[in-house]
Amino acid sequence: MKMLGNPSKGVFTGHMARGCDLCFPGAKAVVFVTGVCDDSCFYCPVSREKLGYDVFYVNEEPVYSVEEALVEIERSNSLGISITGGDPLARPDRVLAVVRAVKESFGPWFHIHLYTSGRYATPDMLVALWRAGLDEIRFHPTEPGFEDRIRMAANLTRMTVGAEIPIAPGLEEYAAKVIRAVEEAGGSFVNLNEMEFVEPNARSLAMRGYRESKARPFTVDGALEAGIKVVEWASRNARIPVHFCPASFKDSIQTRNRLARTILVDAKWYEAPTRDGTLVWGELRSPIKEPPPGIAEKCGKESYCTYPEERLLHKLRDLYGGDAFIVEGHPTRQRKPIVSETQIQ
Ligand code: SF4
Repeated sequence: MKMLGNPSKGVFTGHMARGCDLCFPGAKAVVFVTGVCDDSCFYCPVSREKLGYDVFYVNEEPVYSVEEALVEIERSNSLGISITGGDPLARPDRVLAVVRAVKESFGPWFHIHLYTSGRYATPDMLVALWRAGLDEIRFHPTEPGFEDRIRMAANLTRMTVGAEIPIAPGLEEYAAKVIRAVEEAGGSFVNLNEMEFVEPNARSLAMRGYRESKARPFTVDGALEAGIKVVEWASRNARIPVHFCPASFKDSIQTRNRLARTILVDAKWYEAPTRDGTLVWGELRSPIKEPPPGIAEKCGKESYCTYPEERLLHKLRDLYGGDAFIVEGHPTRQRKPIVSETQIQ
């Protein structure tokens, strides 16, 4: 199979998994179903506020029920979800409830993929996930015997079955072994993620001799080259598609695209979208007098939002008192974090 793509967006052989097709343009909402996980991978990038805790997030927004998760997914204007953790299968009832509810609410074509170490992937669990509507399962091998889970999933269900592992220098041979094993077990793809170098795993990686790349912040030095090397090998030796996903692409372009999709359905009348996936609005903070509706809308305690136009903000400040700002923020529910705030003089 021919190697396609480029190092900044990713390289791959064959067709990428459907979950990746949708992730690329930011059309997948990320459902972090629990932080609970019974593995302890040395490269684990999950934040210490989440790992080990039974927390539930959609696109980094905390949610407290499946119903709240559905609202957040709807707000993101996505075409599918990826279920992640922790190990999602450590909370099987919640995962099944999310899969069923998402398929019921958004329809059979709304794509769902799930990552798991496979530790709790029993035959009953795999069939239950498939019957609930799960489309794609990605095993993250953490212990010997992961091939058996891939075989079970491939034989007992019609889900797309693959594996996903981080890649860094020194792991090329291991990656080739995983590709061979997935192939033999009946899986249909392998994804390689550029290993991240972030606060939660920095110490553990440094102890193993890994360094942060100077050219590619927050990634392991040499991980890009290692990933490309494995995909090159796969183009000559593997029968299944292999895809290398650069961390920088995931963090910058995919996230920006995801925010831009959210803005399409969630921007308020006074908010202007930017090319970076953020929103800009005008804000009058006045404890003195409230502007009438139709000119500005209450958007916080003693805050009134309106178009981000200097002349209009000047006028409102003169008429109603207080201070006026042009604010840029992220399209989260709370419009945080704030990117910039400029006071109108
Ligand atoms: S299985 Fe995933 S969440 Fe669990 S420790 Fe490993 S990398 Fe972290």
